[in-house]
Amino acid sequence: MKSYIGVYGLGVMGQSLALNIANHNYSVAVYNRSTDVTEKFAKDRIQSRKITPTYSVEQFINTLESPRKIILMVKAGAVTDAIIESIVPLLSAGDILIDCGNSYYKDTIRRNKSLLEKNIHFFGVGVSGGERGALEGPSIMPSGDEANYNLYLRDLFNVISAHTEDGSPCCDYIGPDGSGHYVKMVHNGIEYGDIQIICEAYQLLKSVLHLNNEEMADIFEKWNKGRLSSFLIEITAQILRRKDDLTDNYLVDMILDEAGQKGTGKWTSMEGLDSGIAIPTIAESVFARCLSAIKPQRVQASKQLPLPKQFEVEDKEKFIADLEEAVYASKITSYAQGFTLLAEASKENNWDLKLGNISLLWREGCIIRAQFLEKIKQAFDQDANLTNLLLAQQFKEEIINAEKGWRNVVVTAIQNGVYIPCITASLQYYDGYRSERLPANLLQAQRDWFGAHTYHRVDKPHDQSFHTQWEEF
Ligand code: NDP
Repeated sequence: MKSYIGVYGLGVMGQSLALNIANHNYSVAVYNRSTDVTEKFAKDRIQSRKITPTYSVEQFINTLESPRKIILMVKAGAVTDAIIESIVPLLSAGDILIDCGNSYYKDTIRRNKSLLEKNIHFFGVGVSGGERGALEGPSIMPSGDEANYNLYLRDLFNVISAHTEDGSPCCDYIGPDGSGHYVKMVHNGIEYGDIQIICEAYQLLKSVLHLNNEEMADIFEKWNKGRLSSFLIEITAQILRRKDDLTDNYLVDMILDEAGQKGTGKWTSMEGLDSGIAIPTIAESVFARCLSAIKPQRVQASKQLPLPKQFEVEDKEKFIADLEEAVYASKITSYAQGFTLLAEASKENNWDLKLGNISLLWREGCIIRAQFLEKIKQAFDQDANLTNLLLAQQFKEEIINAEKGWRNVVVTAIQNGVYIPCITASLQYYDGYRSERLPANLLQAQRDWFGAHTYHRVDKPHDQSFHTQWEEF
């Protein structure tokens, strides 16, 4: 009996996804380069007759019904190219390759183009939610040929994805070629920002208010009941309460403050730079991880570059309320940046991204899941041509209300020498975005002086450029 779909790659994600597919009554063949992994998976985890383990690429390919549908769940990058190259000669025209790894969207565009010439349909699919999400329902961001998506993948992806309380799947067709991986990349960039903003709130509660882990957990728990309610706030409270198995301390205090990263935040930041879209909150979240990673240097520097005089916060309750405002306003600002980047990519690549729908895909299953995302959908429903989420009526009101507390938090952090790059960058983005006039007039004059780069005048049409002979030489 042939299987409906195949999963190539049995890392944590591939195993979970294959089980998820089988749990929804689809037959699935699995293959992994290292046979022992497949054997162990078959022995320990396969209970359903819907899953067929295979032990050679040929056996895997021959086990699939036509058109073959093959999910690649492997290490992204050169490995994905090598695997595609090795299996394409075994495929037939009309077969479907689905890359669910964290591939770079430009690679997906390239692969899509070259496979189309061979009559193979290629889908780049963003999958978010980690091992548990892949098993119980991830957020899925598929892109590729829409007709084939509707025929062969839509029902399956909808059923295996996460679902919201009202039963909607956290999966929707995104657009052509690399759009799914692009949207997943921006999701990850936003995730970097969310995580860092929460860490900065923790840092302030700890080092300015001197709260202990239980007190901080209480605050995050309370925030999780309000407008900040989200998976990341929820797990933060739980992390703060967890005791260490090896010592009498809290586990979080025993974890080294050196952050890792896999590159999707960096890609998002580079995309901002490449397309000329300011996404400072996301970029600062990447730099914050870079700075955290040079722990030995920081230890040395902390001995030579002393902290400024500390200002005690007298009204702690007020500061905690201000901090909630700062976190919420920074979050709005960070999403405003991420969605501006998506809008620009949509325009540049003719993807016709439905920004409101994309926000709904992230409500469940993925790391940034939150009720907050519904407000983004409402904002785009009210104005499909919204240029920036900061201008949506609800966000505008909320951010103006939050502004005083937000500024107070930034001032307190700066006075006390606390590093809160994302909350600060968000406020600075806000101040830059709402400034009618910036000092770029002086900047243009400097550029014109040293490089004859020309400038536009406030009193002449924008298509006219001017140059001044600033000095005689
Ligand atoms: P890894 O990214 O570690 O990839 C492991 C899989 O890749 C294994 O099946 C491994 O086979 C295979 N592989 C590696 N090198 C080769 C090669 N040269 N030839 C053939 N197969 C190879 O595992 P994950 O399950 O974590 O991730 C899978 C994909 O999903 C990645 O692209 C990842 O970025 C993405 N992803 C991961 C998430 C997560 O939370 N982990 C979340 C969302 C997406 P072998 O056993 O033989 O080494």
